[in-house]
Amino acid sequence: MTVDHATTLAEARQRIAGAPDDDALRELEREYVDKSGLVGQLLAAIPSLEPAERGAAGRAANELKQAVVIALEDRRRALLTAALDAERKGDGFDPTLPPPSVERGSLHPITQATRRLTEIFHAMGYHVLDGPEVELDWYNFEALNISKDHPARDSQDTFYCDEEGKRVLRTHTSPVQIRALEHLEPPFRAVAPGKVFRQESTDASHEHTFHQMEGIVIGKDISVAHLISAMKTLLRGIFDRELEVRLRPGYFPFVEPGFELDARCPFCTEGCGVCKRTTWIELLPCGLVHPNVLKSGGLDPDVWSGFAFGLGLSRLVMLFRGIDDVRHLLGGDQRFLEQF
Ligand SMILES: [Zn+2]
Repeated sequence: MTVDHATTLAEARQRIAGAPDDDALRELEREYVDKSGLVGQLLAAIPSLEPAERGAAGRAANELKQAVVIALEDRRRALLTAALDAERKGDGFDPTLPPPSVERGSLHPITQATRRLTEIFHAMGYHVLDGPEVELDWYNFEALNISKDHPARDSQDTFYCDEEGKRVLRTHTSPVQIRALEHLEPPFRAVAPGKVFRQESTDASHEHTFHQMEGIVIGKDISVAHLISAMKTLLRGIFDRELEVRLRPGYFPFVEPGFELDARCPFCTEGCGVCKRTTWIELLPCGLVHPNVLKSGGLDPDVWSGFAFGLGLSRLVMLFRGIDDVRHLLGGDQRFLEQF
């Protein structure tokens, strides 16, 4: 059996290139490559050749087989690519496109700060408490040493919930101090994060609803040194390093003595925008729990003492996140929230 290999190969390539689908290719593969096909026949015929011709005939048959196999593979790949291209142009599945993006939410910056701080306090042995947002006047004012005619009431413009003024939207988280005194067995430590409300006209630095975190520690012989130590531990928890703190006198009816606690600006050494070029950041009001408050909570001020502090969560989040308008925090604007 003799064939003109060059002509056979050219013809095979032409037929393969014109094959419309896989089935047609499989048919051509049988015709040329399989045992019963042309190459199989060529190989089978070798023993009948003159011994001198057998080597060359074998090599020629194998070369033909290789060339046809390569042509078949090329055509299969081309058909697959064409099929994918067609699918991509239609509305079919395109495996080369990136997957649709998943919309991911994130926690509100206030929630993030609350969680971070309560984690730190929890590690320091503090209970994390909750209190009602609609509060009795007793808890919000009276029990905290703020009597009806106390001037401090003027600075906390209050939303009253009834005609008699018995129920208010709490103006600070401090009422949780009294509830803690009533419910926890001293000595104890507790923080209470939450929303507070003031009847104010709103602007960039005033909002009717904002967030605070109250802290109270009750024990025997509690002093200002304990307070400073706790605040330093808190700062170390937030900033992972030691920050200098200082106390300035401050007046709050429910503490005696009362202080404003400042911390060294964690962002600079020589003054920056956050600390308004002073290198100090006003962190929180604090002090030793007033004996009248202890009495309101049912404790004997001669036996028990304690310190309390009130973190302005909204203010701190604004400070550390560079937010210049408090109204963004609860404005619900997704463009703002998506940044966190
Ligand atoms: Zn600074």
